[in-house]
Amino acid sequence: MKKAALHNLGCKVNSYETEAMQQLLESAGYEIVPFAEGADVYIINTCSVTNIADRKSRQMLHRAKKMNPEAVVVAAGCYVQAAGEELKKDEAVDLVVGNNKKTELVSILEDYFVQRKNTEEESSWEHTAAPGKALEHVIDISDTREYENLSIDRISDHTRAFIKVQDGCNQFCSYCIIPYTRGRVRSRRPDEVVEEVKRLTASGYKEIVLTGIHLSSYGMDFPEEERLTLLDLIRSIHEVEGLKRIRLGSLEPRIVTEEFASALAGLDKICPHFHLSLQSGCNDTLKRMNRHYTTEDYLNRCQILRKAFHNPAITTDVIVGFPGETEEEFQMTREYLKNVRFYEMHVFKYSKRNGTRAAVMPEQIPESAKAERSNELLCLEKEMSLEYRKSWLGSRTEVLMEEEYWLNDVHYMIGHTREYVKAAVPYEEGLKGVVSDGILMEMMNDEVAFLKH
Ligand code: SF4
Repeated sequence: MKKAALHNLGCKVNSYETEAMQQLLESAGYEIVPFAEGADVYIINTCSVTNIADRKSRQMLHRAKKMNPEAVVVAAGCYVQAAGEELKKDEAVDLVVGNNKKTELVSILEDYFVQRKNTEEESSWEHTAAPGKALEHVIDISDTREYENLSIDRISDHTRAFIKVQDGCNQFCSYCIIPYTRGRVRSRRPDEVVEEVKRLTASGYKEIVLTGIHLSSYGMDFPEEERLTLLDLIRSIHEVEGLKRIRLGSLEPRIVTEEFASALAGLDKICPHFHLSLQSGCNDTLKRMNRHYTTEDYLNRCQILRKAFHNPAITTDVIVGFPGETEEEFQMTREYLKNVRFYEMHVFKYSKRNGTRAAVMPEQIPESAKAERSNELLCLEKEMSLEYRKSWLGSRTEVLMEEEYWLNDVHYMIGHTREYVKAAVPYEEGLKGVVSDGILMEMMNDEVAFLKH
């Protein structure tokens, strides 16, 4: 039995696909072993969202080859789409498998092993697979309209299951490489999604998180007569018996309309936790980013959610140091963020991506200024998220228990409320995956509140 090890880099869509590839290998008889252990096959599902992601992808590929020079090292995913030619020349890489080719992983490996065996016998393998001759399975992703139907029966996290329902993006934000690595919008058939949710719920998952590359575009690629929206999909999933919670992945602000919000508010399994990607609190910067909303419009979307839900958790992404961002524009963003009062913010320093429009824009910002601005927003983020957690103290809520937790040598079980606030109860056997009800009493530290039954 061949041993395989997988490593995931990047977003929840990638981790879903890595899980699905692992399950394909298991069904084909591979033994899955931890990455640190010796394996015959290493699969690295790469990411290319920033230069750092590229570097980490290369590092993991080289680490795999170092772990076992005889092993077959497979580079899969977005970095393959972005830098396929470069990767093919990389001595550490034997196979490159692009996006929309992952369902073929097992047959690609089998062909490779057969080819290697045949040619080794003819002692011509050295020539065929000489360093810099990685075999490639990559398509022009911008051409495909087919959704690659990977699926899962379980996921490593035992309480919350991220499921992929959409791929690709048509937005072309000026800083983003993803439309070039993931292609155009492609949506998964709703019946396939519902079947997967039923399988996962039947095997004990209480919460699912809908995820995609541009989730808000779900269904827009279906033929006119079959056109569906994300809301339609959510409604179908909501009918699944035994499922307790539906959490949404990152959303495009424009999807938040009065109708959308009030419809969601009518579905009791929906978690009032909305990640609305903002990127900048300055209209001029948003224009240069090719984001299609204004700061006024964005704030209005937040108010729509705050009208439809009681104290919803609103989280976001912000890029600092985008080309041309003056100190004044940055301060405008900072004031805007303070005004919106986010629960959490993911703060990114602008990362130049070759091939994007922003990469050739004038007035690129020095790394030192990016670091300063990022630190300023991270301090603000810490302050705002504690304030939001405290806003729930004294309220009755429910927590999906996930894992053990120790604080000052005291043993607890910890989990998340529907608003994604962390809460703990005294440890008891068998609480994992249980939804506990109680009152949030006090903050045990900046992150965790104590839940009293
Ligand atoms: S919406 Fe913009 S940032 Fe998000 S994946 Fe698409 S192009 Fe990238």
